[in-house]
Amino acid sequence: MNIDSIRNGMVIDHISAGYGMKLYHLLGLDEQDVSVAIIKNVTSRKLGKKDIIKIDAEIPVNLDVIGYVDPGATVNIIKNGELVEKKNMALPTELHNVLRCKNPRCITSTEQELPHVFRLTDPERKIYRCAWCETKAE
Ligand code: ZN
Repeated sequence: MNIDSIRNGMVIDHISAGYGMKLYHLLGLDEQDVSVAIIKNVTSRKLGKKDIIKIDAEIPVNLDVIGYVDPGATVNIIKNGELVEKKNMALPTELHNVLRCKNPRCITSTEQELPHVFRLTDPERKIYRCAWCETKAE
């Protein structure tokens, strides 16, 4: 793929088509004052169609979020216009402050300072449960 347009930053590649926007929001990229490109429905030999996100800035990105949204994604780190690292994602075993528990009786809804922790309880079906009350993530 063409990475010429980025000098220093990150390209999130091989995102399943349709997940690019979801990832964009979950990563909080909409709240960052950086240049981000989302390319949707790119033809891919491996996936048929895929989404790509290009971030033209060196900002901290939570890789667990990428692995959660799409464990098949790859992350390319670009420095001085060159690909310096390629990372394969995987389903994270724990998510910290990514998802919020929907259970109104969960301790996290009353104790605001507690971290929102979700654990992967069923990797086959990609099911995460609240570490506090075991409510399933949506
Ligand atoms: Zn909970």
